[in-house]
Amino acid sequence: MATAIVARKGRRKSVSISLIEPENWATPQRILVVLAHPDDPEFFCGATIARWIAAGHEVRYCLLTCGDKGTKDRSLVSEQLCDIRQEEQRNAARILGVEQVRFLCYPDGYLVADMGLRKDITRVIRQEKPDILVTCDPTTLFYNNQSINHPDHRAAGQAALDSVFPAARDHLYFVELWRDENLEPHIVREVWVCGTLEPSVVLDVTEQWETKIRSLYEHKSQIGDPEKLTERMRNRRTADSTPEVPRYEEKFRRIVLG
Ligand SMILES: [Zn+2]
Repeated sequence: MATAIVARKGRRKSVSISLIEPENWATPQRILVVLAHPDDPEFFCGATIARWIAAGHEVRYCLLTCGDKGTKDRSLVSEQLCDIRQEEQRNAARILGVEQVRFLCYPDGYLVADMGLRKDITRVIRQEKPDILVTCDPTTLFYNNQSINHPDHRAAGQAALDSVFPAARDHLYFVELWRDENLEPHIVREVWVCGTLEPSVVLDVTEQWETKIRSLYEHKSQIGDPEKLTERMRNRRTADSTPEVPRYEEKFRRIVLG
C-alpha cells in the first residue's frame, strides 16, 4: 500500500492507494470498457488493458462515438473520418489483445448523458454481462489548471455509471429491454474509473508501456509525429524512476459494488 497525502480546504486528508495485481485474481474477469472516442482506451488505460489480457482476463470495448470530428484536415468529412477512426481503433485494440470493439456511433462532440444514451449502454451491459466496467470520471472538469476535460468524456462517464446503477440491475428500468429483447438484468460487480483526480488503485504497467505506445501508433489520424508521441509517453515515468530504470503506472478509482 502506498499512501498519498492530499491537501483539501486547508486540511490534510490521507488517501490510500492500493497496488493491484490482476494476475492474482481468483477467476478470469469479463471487463467492458465504455468510453467516448477511439483512442480513449489506449490513452487512458491501454497498458492496464494489455496487462489484464496477459493475465487471462477478457476485455471488450464499447465506444460511444467514432470520433468523427477529430481532425484539422479540411479535405475530410465526418463520414470518412468515422470510417478511418473505427479502423484505427480496431487495429489499436488488436495490439493490446482486444478482439471485440463496438461503436454506438453517437455524434462526436455532442454526447449528452441522456436517457437514450443510458438505455443504449444498459443494453450493452446486459448483453456483455461484465464483471468489471471501465469508464472515465465525469467529475473531472480540469487537469492541473492546464486543460479542460472533453465534454464527451464527462458525458460518457456519467452515462456509463448511471447505466451500471440502477438501470442495468433492475428489470423495470427500460422494461422493453427485458420484455422485448430478452435481456436479463445484470449486476456489474466493480467499476474502474480512469481519468480521475481521486485514484484508489494503481497498477505497475512498466512491462506494458511500450505495448501501449505501439497501440497508440495505430491512431495515425490523431497522434501527429510518432517520435514526439513516444518521447511524451516515455516521459510519463514515475517520480521514483531513473533514466536507466523507468517505471510506469496507471491509476483508477475502483468502486466495488458487490
Ligand atoms: Zn477522447
